Amino acid sequence: AVIAVTKETRANETRVAATPETVKKLAAAGFSVVVQAGAGTAASYPDADYEAAGAKIAKTAAETLKDADVLFKVRAPEATEIAALKSGAIVAAALNPYQDKETLDALAKAGATAIAMEFIPRITRAQVMDMLSSQANLAGYRAVIEGAEAYGKALPMMMTAAGTVAAAKVFIMGVGVAGLQAIATARRLGAVVTATDVRPATKEQVESLGAKFLAVEDEEFKNAQTAGGYAKEMSKEYQAKQAELVSSHIAKQDIVITTALIPGRPAPKLVSAAQVASMRPGSILVDLAIEQGGNVEGAKLNETVVTANGVKILGHANLPGRIAADASALYARNLVALSTLFTTKEGEFAPNFEDEILQAAVVTRGGAIVHPNLKTA
Ligand code: NAD
Repeated sequence: AVIAVTKETRANETRVAATPETVKKLAAAGFSVVVQAGAGTAASYPDADYEAAGAKIAKTAAETLKDADVLFKVRAPEATEIAALKSGAIVAAALNPYQDKETLDALAKAGATAIAMEFIPRITRAQVMDMLSSQANLAGYRAVIEGAEAYGKALPMMMTAAGTVAAAKVFIMGVGVAGLQAIATARRLGAVVTATDVRPATKEQVESLGAKFLAVEDEEFKNAQTAGGYAKEMSKEYQAKQAELVSSHIAKQDIVITTALIPGRPAPKLVSAAQVASMRPGSILVDLAIEQGGNVEGAKLNETVVTANGVKILGHANLPGRIAADASALYARNLVALSTLFTTKEGEFAPNFEDEILQAAVVTRGGAIVHPNLKTA
C-alpha cells in the first residue's frame, strides 16, 4: 500500500507528518512512501534525506496523492487534496473535528476514511499513537522558553559580586501533559513554581515535580475528573471560588502559563483582565489555550498584547510548530504506530476498523460522518 505525505498548507504550520526515520520504518513494514517535495523543509528535513530513507519525492500534492491508499498530514487536508484522493483512502491528521465541520463534510463526500488524531483514545495501548500528548508535552516546554524569552529578568536565583538576582515565580494553570512539562521546564531553569488544576489527581503530580499545589479542594473538585481522565466544566460557583483564590496569588507571579482545556468546549476563562492588571510591569502570561478561545481575558491569537500596566500576554498559536523538528519526529512516530493497525501480521494491507482505537478515532467512512460525537441530529 502507498502512504502519501503532502506539504502542510495551513498558516504557520512548520511540522511534517513523516521524517526520514519514519519513512524507513514504514518502508520496513512494507509500505511505499511518497513525500511531496519540500514537505519537511520547514522542520529541517530535506528532500534528499527522505529519498535516502526510501521515499519517492513527488512535485505536487496531486502527484503525491495519485496512488495513495493512506494520507498522513499534520493538519486537515485542503479541498484540492481531498478531491485528489481515491475513494476509500485513509486520511490521518489533526482534523480539529469539533470546529472544522467543512473539512469533515468534504472528507465524507469524497468517501475517505478519516481518522481524527485528537480522538485516539487514552488507553495504554494507544499511548504511542497519542499526538495530543506528544505535542502538548513540547508545547509545555516551549511555553516556558517563550515566557522566559519575553521576560526581562532571569529565572534562576543568582548570587553575584554585584548582588543577588531573585528567582522568578512561575505559576502554571492546568496540569495536564503540557502543564506538567511546563512545571518541569520552569524548575530546571531555577524558577519557584506553583500550579493549579481542577483534577485532584494532579496534586500529587505537581508535588512530585517539586512545585507547590494551589486549588479550591471542595466536593466538586473531588469529582472533577471524567472516566476518560479529562476535566469537567466547573460550575459558576466553583469558578468564582477558584478566581478568588488565584487573585491574591497571581498578583505576585512573574510568569503565568495557562494550559486549561475541556474537550469539545471553549477553554475556561481563568485569568480576568483585573487579575492581569494586578500583576507587576514586565510580568508575562503565556496562553496555551488560545486556539480554543484562550484562558486569559484579553489574549489575542498570534499576538503579544502589552497591557496598560506593562504586562505582556503571549498568544502564540501552534507552539509545537516552534519546535518543529522534534514535534514532527514525535508526531511521525505516532503515525507509524497507528499504521500498525492497517496491516495484518502477515503484512497485508487490511485495516482493522473493528479495533477499538480506530472505532474511537474514525470520523468519516463510507460517505458519511460516523463518529457519535459529531453526528448532527
Ligand atoms: P487537557 O489538555 O484536556 O487539559 C489541560 C488541563 O487543564 C487538564 O489537566 C485539566 O484538568 C485542566 N483544567 C480544565 N479546566 C480547568 C480549570 N477550570 N482550572 C484549572 N485547570 C483546568 O488535558 P491533557 O493534557 O490532555 O490531560 C488530561 C489527562 O489525561 C491527564 O491526567 C493525563 O495524564 C491523561 N492522559 C492519559 C493518557 C493515557 O492514558 N494514554 C494519555 C495522555 C494523557
